[in-house]
Amino acid sequence: MSDTSNQYDIQNPLTQYPRPPFPRQPQPAPGLIGEMDPVPDHGETSYRGLGRMEGRKALITGGDSGIGRATAIAYAREGAAVAINYLDAESPDAQSLADLIEGEGGTLVRLPGDLTDEAFCEQLIADAVDQLGGLDAVVINAGKQVYTEDIQDLTTEQFDQTYKTNVYAMFWLSKAALPHLPPGGTIINTTSIQGYSPSPGLLDYASTKWAIIGFTKALAKQVIGDGIRVNAVAPGPFWTPLQPSGGQPQDKVEEFGSQVPYGRPGQPAEIAPMYVFLATQESGYTTGEVFGSTGGEPTA
Ligand code: NAD
Ligand code: MG
Repeated sequence: MSDTSNQYDIQNPLTQYPRPPFPRQPQPAPGLIGEMDPVPDHGETSYRGLGRMEGRKALITGGDSGIGRATAIAYAREGAAVAINYLDAESPDAQSLADLIEGEGGTLVRLPGDLTDEAFCEQLIADAVDQLGGLDAVVINAGKQVYTEDIQDLTTEQFDQTYKTNVYAMFWLSKAALPHLPPGGTIINTTSIQGYSPSPGLLDYASTKWAIIGFTKALAKQVIGDGIRVNAVAPGPFWTPLQPSGGQPQDKVEEFGSQVPYGRPGQPAEIAPMYVFLATQESGYTTGEVFGSTGGEPTA
């Protein structure tokens, strides 16, 4: 493996990070970073901020681990004050993130709670606005993924929870946040390669990710008149707790990432810069777009 602590020197992306096979590593959802082998890279030792988000105020759902955690680290190092939402069971991951960001002099507000509850989503936005002193970037990134091979085994309860977490929460958070966002404010949703090329065992999940693309494009057109932009990021396979904690069966975890042209999963550190770009004025002419980072798997 090449030097993974430096994202800025030119190197072969195929060998930059671990490749399968990986050990089987079952753990209960929502999953914790400490149970993962190899440990994911969230940019802890590598991400260099350039002051691109100085004075900005951002809320990131699912900010404790995975893609959200890498985004939180990047935003904080770019100078933003950051609030994260996560579930109570994920307190250890939120704590280690707070230790890192606060240890560097940054701001991390922790706002745990369950996004499947509309009243909680409204309260979360109110608390973020209150504790950050405003809000100008909302990263809607929390997600639920439970691999279920046969539609006959897919319960209404699971279908409902997946839609509540991935789609309804996006609607509730967007609706509550928009009145607070200034011109130049942004919403960034997280869809998936599954929204374009769905796996048969992810019927509920893949269809939520398709819905997120439609919602992003429609809302972008609705709110650009207020100077607010809405975009989405579409990850391919990324090495995060979502996958070994029920997102995939363990035999697929062993070969995770082998299905895309890179032959390996992405690491959260490799996608966080996309969330930075979409939050800053550098992407000012971009709205209603979906940016892919898929290890070479086409999104079209
Ligand atoms: P992750 O497990 O690190 O993050 C998902 C987060 O969702 C959890 O940390 C948890 O805090 C949050 N969450 C789940 N249910 C919740 C609820 N009811 N209330 C509040 N929070 C809840 O995994 P990740 O892969 O970084 O996931 C981030 C996003 O990326 C998700 O939307 C996921 O669908 C998407 N994504 C991931 C992959 C991948 O391969 N890892 C691929 C495509 C898209
Ligand atoms: Mg987590």
